Amino acid sequence: MFKSKTIRSGGNAKTIKGDKFGEYETAIMYLAPAAQSLLGNVCPMAATAGCEMGCLSKAGRAGMFNSIVEARIAKTRRYFRDRRQFMADLVKDIEAFVRYCQRKGVKPAVRLNGTSDIQWEVAHPCYRRIETSDPAQLNPACFLSIFHAFPEVQFYDYTKVYKRAYRKLPANYSLTLSYSEANPAYRDAVLLAALDTETNIAVVYRSKHVRDAVAGCGKVDSFGHSSGERLAREVIDGDETDMRFTDPRGVIVGLYAKGPAKKDTSGFVVG
Ligand code: SF4
Repeated sequence: MFKSKTIRSGGNAKTIKGDKFGEYETAIMYLAPAAQSLLGNVCPMAATAGCEMGCLSKAGRAGMFNSIVEARIAKTRRYFRDRRQFMADLVKDIEAFVRYCQRKGVKPAVRLNGTSDIQWEVAHPCYRRIETSDPAQLNPACFLSIFHAFPEVQFYDYTKVYKRAYRKLPANYSLTLSYSEANPAYRDAVLLAALDTETNIAVVYRSKHVRDAVAGCGKVDSFGHSSGERLAREVIDGDETDMRFTDPRGVIVGLYAKGPAKKDTSGFVVG
């Protein structure tokens, strides 16, 4: 288990399982979702996609302990109040996580949007002290993003901000789109982004039973765009592991509803 001010590993059943070969360990950042911090919105598409009520932020321990919710709100406020310091803390914590993974003999993976949907590839530069040709000297260097500062780390996230799928992302950042039928305009836009860019799309099914009826063994599911265009793809079991960057390209990542999402009627959960 790794714990720091901004990220932690070992608290999520899916990431504890790691990838199929136990090669990676994932550290996740948990913020207060949407506008819960009252200082800004870290999930710009949450209202449109109708996912706030069924948000995974309320599943697991965070659904039980107020102290966890309060800690996430405090962290999110730090993010809004002093972005530069927040990024400096994040750099320090990822450096520590990389060292922790080296000691454990595993590769580091980081998911920054555990319970948020921030566009980290845009307007989030950071500084990191890097080694120069003189091993005794460390120079601070400014990087365009946290992904550029840590090429040795594999980053990944789920997103409802579908325009991100059209961006040229750094090679070490993998994004999976997140489906919702709560709003026809959102549904159409996210399906189009998946079709246009071949980006994988995660679908939350009503139950494990419903998900298992379509996942695995090359089974295909299909979702419709109002223009008549359909996204028909093989469904993989997305709960077996959280390592989305190891998924084949052009699939539906089938998840099943957990926590409050089980009662979702917005269209975020299907089936
Ligand atoms: S499901 Fe994702 S985008 Fe929606 S509120 Fe939760 S963290 Fe934000």
